Amino acid sequence: MPVKTLSKFVSLRVKTNEYDRTAGFDFQKEFVNFKTGIIIKFRIDFLIINTCIQNYLLQTFNRTSLDLHFSENRISYMINITFPDGAVRQYENGTTALDIAKSISEGLARKIIAANVNGQVWDATRPIYNDASLKLLTWNDTDGKSTFWHSSAHLMAEAVESMFPGVKFWVGPPVENGFYYDMDLGDRKMSDEDLVALEKKMSELARKNNSYIRKEIPKTEAVKYFTDKGDEYKLDLLQGLNDGEITFYTQGNFTDLCRGPHIPNTGFIKAIKLTSIAGAYWKGDEKNKMLTRVYGISFPSQKELDEYLLMLEEAKKRDHRKLGKELGIFTMDDDVGPGLALWMPNGTVIIEELEKLAKETESAGGYKRVVTPHIAKESMYLTSGHLPYYKDSMFPPMELEGIKYYLKAMNCPHHHKIFAAEPKSYKDLPLRLAEYGTCYRYEQSGELFGLMRVRCLHMNDAHIYCTKEQFYEEFKAVNDMYLKYFKIFGVDKYVMRLSLHDPAKLGKKYVNEPELWIETEALVRDVLIKTNTPFVEVQDEAAFYGPKIDVQIWSIIGREFTLATNQVDFAQGRSFKLEFTNHDNKAETPLIIHRAPLGTHERFIGFLLEHYAGKFPLWLAPVQVKLLPISDKFLNYAKTVSQQLKKADIRAEVDDRNEKIGKKIRDTELMKVPYMLVVGEKEMNENKVAVRRQGKGDIGVKDVVAFINEAKEEILERRE
Ligand SMILES: [Zn+2]
Ligand SMILES: [Zn+2]
Repeated sequence: MPVKTLSKFVSLRVKTNEYDRTAGFDFQKEFVNFKTGIIIKFRIDFLIINTCIQNYLLQTFNRTSLDLHFSENRISYMINITFPDGAVRQYENGTTALDIAKSISEGLARKIIAANVNGQVWDATRPIYNDASLKLLTWNDTDGKSTFWHSSAHLMAEAVESMFPGVKFWVGPPVENGFYYDMDLGDRKMSDEDLVALEKKMSELARKNNSYIRKEIPKTEAVKYFTDKGDEYKLDLLQGLNDGEITFYTQGNFTDLCRGPHIPNTGFIKAIKLTSIAGAYWKGDEKNKMLTRVYGISFPSQKELDEYLLMLEEAKKRDHRKLGKELGIFTMDDDVGPGLALWMPNGTVIIEELEKLAKETESAGGYKRVVTPHIAKESMYLTSGHLPYYKDSMFPPMELEGIKYYLKAMNCPHHHKIFAAEPKSYKDLPLRLAEYGTCYRYEQSGELFGLMRVRCLHMNDAHIYCTKEQFYEEFKAVNDMYLKYFKIFGVDKYVMRLSLHDPAKLGKKYVNEPELWIETEALVRDVLIKTNTPFVEVQDEAAFYGPKIDVQIWSIIGREFTLATNQVDFAQGRSFKLEFTNHDNKAETPLIIHRAPLGTHERFIGFLLEHYAGKFPLWLAPVQVKLLPISDKFLNYAKTVSQQLKKADIRAEVDDRNEKIGKKIRDTELMKVPYMLVVGEKEMNENKVAVRRQGKGDIGVKDVVAFINEAKEEILERRE
């Protein structure tokens, strides 16, 4: 074995399943053998010619390939790891995220599901060979959850294979809540009882604490494996892959073709619920074979599963489609078309209250309101780039006098044209143009869902045109507006997801403005930090023209909603040739902020219906006060009080039905009206009302005027 002495240490890590073959290793060396899962580490003080050591190790470990990381040029024993807070620490080359977590604390290590290494999600057990930025991921990170659920899909596949030998697998991705795996069971069918048995089997396998072992595989070997297994679906996946990008993951008795990442071992999966069985055409094409899709969800503790199931139960009761119908908020009609909501009078009241709030807030924030048409010529969307990039999400064009017109999918281009209509100087900036704009988007029929996914939406839109110097203040004001709204609506849990660019993709996926990217990303981050706004950063998910902030909120029962997206834009200004004259009398392109804090009426009212379970706070309630006369004798008095209320801008109605008072109260409760005023002999004679508050019951007899004053105050303050 030709070896060359080297003064520095060299760190080599050899991945293998065979621990016991190390004895054959007979270099003159300082030999450290410690096990982190399947990794054995050698520390030697020789530089060995690459191919020789490779051959030697292949022989020693009796294998045809090795995951060997070794570089003659960049031999460094230590690497620099940069943490999210900017701290840089040194670790041995070949360390893993899990090693690093362990070096911090055992408690932390137990929670580490995966890691973000240089912007990519990795196995926590995968060695790191170069300087890297590192974020340890736990169950609380979205990427952590996805990794957890995707790993659970592998576990389910292992269980399925043990119960249905010969089953073939297609793909098993994580979804918003849980995971699924598509499989071909041949002639067999899976029943609900099978699901129960599968859950049991999965728990049993999980308890074995089997590691998810990653292995790089040459294509020929991978093809042989799945040919022998007879899984044509995996062979189909392999067709699109090349040597060097193929990895297998094995846990227990199950091996899957997968690029990963996965959790360290199955022991993390403590609670499992398989939720449903569905049919799914292979590759989503109805000409293909129908595969069996099994959905499930898993958690790191039984408590979390129990909470989730309880939340689902509660969510069912609060389903916005059910409540929307019961409370007369909105309806859909086949003749109007799918995804096109018709807002009923009660829903329209809520819309108008929301718009009132938005207009008040925006007016105080120095916004100016505009109104724009619902259609525009093709040429404008070519300028904006919506055509062809966004074409699939737009309704097909209508042709008029030889010109194509499109329904607008976004309000921005129209607003840009308003900006461009008159010459601008730096004195005109910042210019904030607001509109509750109606947009139309072509969502696939299968994607439509109540108010959450629709084809016509009313957006709380605005575009802010500003200079680079003004950007920080403007962005901060937008952020403050969000926080103000969260307070009003009692949204306690929210996270801003800041999507950043990838410098390697400048000029391709992202506008080629390296400095502006860095500058604006830093400014946005700074605002979020200074305002104590919780946020997470995601690499390589920005919009084409700038960093993007997705706002995620949680309803009172803990369900997550994506409310809106804020975008910083330094490209559209240029495409539309938007300019202002700067201090130096030169033409400059403004930065644009796209923002919609209340999202769309559709999605936001859908959210509010669930959040409040239909029990809107007084200021939003379609009917605020219901007058309930004990008998017909007091109907006139009820009507008089109702008139007084209306004069004070309180939405009041009289229950003039010839029903018993008990029934009137029950029915009003069902309609979730905040205040009920019961009137009879005594109330009429003393000009009073007996007040019942939704959810609280009887709160006593009050003077009509006193009640009106109190209610007005509650409305004005938009109390929860
Ligand atoms: Zn996988
Ligand atoms: Zn916009």
